[in-house]
Amino acid sequence: MSARVMDGAAVAARIRGAVAEDVARLSGHGVVPRLEVVLVGDDPASRVYVAAKGKAAHEVGIRAATHALPAATTAEELRELIVQLNCNGDVDGILLQLPLPSHLNSRAFLDLVDPAKDVDGFHPLNVGLLHQGRPSFVPCTPAGIMELLDAEGVGLSGRRAVVLGRSEIVGKPMAALLLARHATVTVCHSRTADLAGVCRQADVLVAAIGKAALVSAEFVKPGAVVVDVGINRVEDPGLVARLYPGDEGRRGQVAKRGYTLVGDVDFTAVREVAAAITPVPGGVGPLTIAGLLRNTVRAARRRRGME
Ligand code: NDP
Repeated sequence: MSARVMDGAAVAARIRGAVAEDVARLSGHGVVPRLEVVLVGDDPASRVYVAAKGKAAHEVGIRAATHALPAATTAEELRELIVQLNCNGDVDGILLQLPLPSHLNSRAFLDLVDPAKDVDGFHPLNVGLLHQGRPSFVPCTPAGIMELLDAEGVGLSGRRAVVLGRSEIVGKPMAALLLARHATVTVCHSRTADLAGVCRQADVLVAAIGKAALVSAEFVKPGAVVVDVGINRVEDPGLVARLYPGDEGRRGQVAKRGYTLVGDVDFTAVREVAAAITPVPGGVGPLTIAGLLRNTVRAARRRRGME
């Protein structure tokens, strides 16, 4: 039987609606939350993400601006901008779009962001609080996934969760959130032995590795819930035809724009084994943006002692 497709876009729309109401309430107190996005270089995917974040912010009434800096920006110039945004009392949230060009050390700049304005939840203070079970700003993607699992009524306490990927952005905070909800959590990575076997133990499997369709049906226990975080460009029409047989829409995308976006999970095959699964696109992506909006409003309230 085919798995239920979990509608991340619908859950994200509900979150955005709630955020818009919060923003309207804050406006009644003379506060309009303000988000500043810093983009360095001309990575095309980053440009698309930043534009989507800005648009979503405007739609809920958040003021949003982007500082688009050239790829040759020096560490000193970037430091100056972040310090300036930290000091500006009118700015509630600061988002440093990753990846940075290779000559800039991401960690050093994430550490520089004022933890009270760290709407991505990447500052060590916020990371530490999350791992102590005292979440402050929770990274947007894993926070959104938890909302989706709750909306779908997925029980976590006592169940086995496997997180595939151990990045600071997705894998590690995801594991911390699942652990806080009493799941028994295993984190896998590129050196995990018998990856498929470990994943097959999962009642809830979260894939965040950035490898197109690596998670095959063999990785999935019958009846598991599968969350696909991966976003991968696939240009090969043959591969697209194999992964999505009969999907003319995707084939058309490859012909027209040269690629289609696929997740880390072989959706067509895994759908026949899992109980529930997220699609790509339309699964986790919209939840990430909704989480960012929520964190921005939270920052605006907290900075004024309203929360
Ligand atoms: P990173 O590259 O930072 O981390 C990837 C992780 O996957 C690493 O821990 C790596 O292991 C592991 N890994 C890579 N290859 C394999 C493999 N063959 N077998 C097992 N583990 C492997 O990626 P991110 O966490 O930033 O992102 C992961 C994916 O999620 C990407 O496709 C990204 O585009 C997407 N993404 C989507 C978002 C959304 O909103 N939908 C938001 C953020 C990310 P090791 O540590 O050993 O190197």
